[in-house]
Amino acid sequence: MNTLNPIAIQGTGLVKRFKTGRSHIEVLKSVDFDARHGEMTMVMGPSGSGKSTLVAALSGLLKPDSGKVTAMGEDLWSMRPGKIDKFRLDHCGFIFQGFNLFGALSALQQVTTILKYKGFSPSEARARAATALTEVGLGARLNPRPAELSGGEKQRVAIAGALAKEPRLLFADEPTSALDGENGQIVIKLLQRAAKQHGAAVICVTHDPRLEAYADRIIHIEDGHILNDRRTTPAPSAAKTPELIGA
Ligand code: ADP
Ligand code: MG
Repeated sequence: MNTLNPIAIQGTGLVKRFKTGRSHIEVLKSVDFDARHGEMTMVMGPSGSGKSTLVAALSGLLKPDSGKVTAMGEDLWSMRPGKIDKFRLDHCGFIFQGFNLFGALSALQQVTTILKYKGFSPSEARARAATALTEVGLGARLNPRPAELSGGEKQRVAIAGALAKEPRLLFADEPTSALDGENGQIVIKLLQRAAKQHGAAVICVTHDPRLEAYADRIIHIEDGHILNDRRTTPAPSAAKTPELIGA
């Protein structure tokens, strides 16, 4: 028998509707979802199937119309808004397609700013930021601003920022879609490392089939429904312990 890692986040019966003119469209149709520590859970599906809405509902960004999210043992949507913000700050990292960097700040300043916001002293924030950037291969690129960085480098700065906080939950929404294959692979390997080395639950939305090889689990969503949910054997390059490999 394989033992599965503990569940980090679980959504049950998630429903989300948006108003369009006089009618509503139901974007999440009673979705049940969970993700485990130490695993890369990939959410795949066509454009408009509800992937980003699901991530937003799981991560405290968008309140579902019904259903429940239990994140790190807490009932997310019963928290006050300020507490949800604090929960995100303490436990969640986010990586989006658009890199979300500050144009005026150097790579080092981007990551340092996040860590100061989390409460580290300026000197500790700088030291941790430099370490995180070195870990993503940007140790020699601490000073450039976003305009001087390539797309792959920008996404690695964003990842360094997300990982520096050592989040237990890492949400990535189409993190490689603006990147070429080689940079996409660097990025997905960094996300995988967050799961394998730091035990984060990584939830990665993508429609890039090349990333499937890095998933421990692939959940297909279509038209607001989960179509299937399967565990996979990872790529040979992916370091894994045997008991984590699904049956
Ligand atoms: P995906 O990330 O899979 O491409 P989304 O979750 O972004 O899909 O969107 C799912 C559906 O919900 C789409 O049809 C989209 O147009 C619609 N939608 C998303 N956000 C809103 C919104 N704020 N208002 C109205 N419709 C929305
Ligand atoms: Mg989306």
